[in-house]
Amino acid sequence: MQRRRFVKNAGLLALSQLVNMSALSALKALGNNLNNTATMPVLFIGHGNPMNAIAGNAWHKSWQALGKELPRPQAILSVSAHWITRGTKVATTPHPETIHDFGGFPKELFDQQYPAPGSPDMAALAQELITASHVQGDDTWGLDHGTWSVLLPMYPAADIPVFQLSLDYYQPPSYHYEIGRQLAKLRNKGVLIIGSGNLVHNLGKVQWDGSNKVYDWAQEFDATMAKWIAEGDHTAILDYQKRLGSTATMAHPTYDHLLPLFYTLGLQQKGETVKFFNDQFDMASVSMRSLIIS
Ligand code: ZN
Repeated sequence: MQRRRFVKNAGLLALSQLVNMSALSALKALGNNLNNTATMPVLFIGHGNPMNAIAGNAWHKSWQALGKELPRPQAILSVSAHWITRGTKVATTPHPETIHDFGGFPKELFDQQYPAPGSPDMAALAQELITASHVQGDDTWGLDHGTWSVLLPMYPAADIPVFQLSLDYYQPPSYHYEIGRQLAKLRNKGVLIIGSGNLVHNLGKVQWDGSNKVYDWAQEFDATMAKWIAEGDHTAILDYQKRLGSTATMAHPTYDHLLPLFYTLGLQQKGETVKFFNDQFDMASVSMRSLIIS
């Protein structure tokens, strides 16, 4: 009855427009009111050792160059391997703290701060866009090193708002991929989305002596995933555990550092291409392979 009255009052509006109108929530209206921008690229960054934040090495320099080459974002959404939660959360704090979530590193690393503002508005929009899960707002998490170790070289002025989305470790790859897919609209609101992890990440097998003689299983996992990514075979990627068996278990004894990749790939649109960079290993068992989708 209500719907009939609504249709009648709507006069000449086509049904499709009505459907759109009925779907509008206050927050989607907020999203629509933000001007659309050119579609921002999407990144997956292999962050590796926290020292890369300040080391001045090849990885560090590549992130510096990236910050200069990319269109300047209005906000940054980081999906970091280091924020693991039960359920998916989005950080809503206006002033995120720099979290030094590591041990055994020099004081110089602990002294680093990344005082970028948060983005409560974009966090609210992200929360609204994700329908695959109930996403909770969180005002306790700051910026972990998966985020700031990369952003410090990329955007040293720390003047672009940054917010994080957590990883629900207990969900399958398809869950993370779907959430990535649902965030696509943010790319047209000037948001640079970064998945920050590592394509191969086995800390138990790290070679600390600097020899960097890459393990066969590490090479195999890295190369196979890269092939599937280049071919756009996301079905194979989401099924990686079955298809790569013990190689997958060696490459990721825990898969927190792989999960951010699924968000990045979920954001890939038809016709977009993938460019790899930093496609080398560090300490024999950490793949630094990164990619940009545009
Ligand atoms: Zn890490």
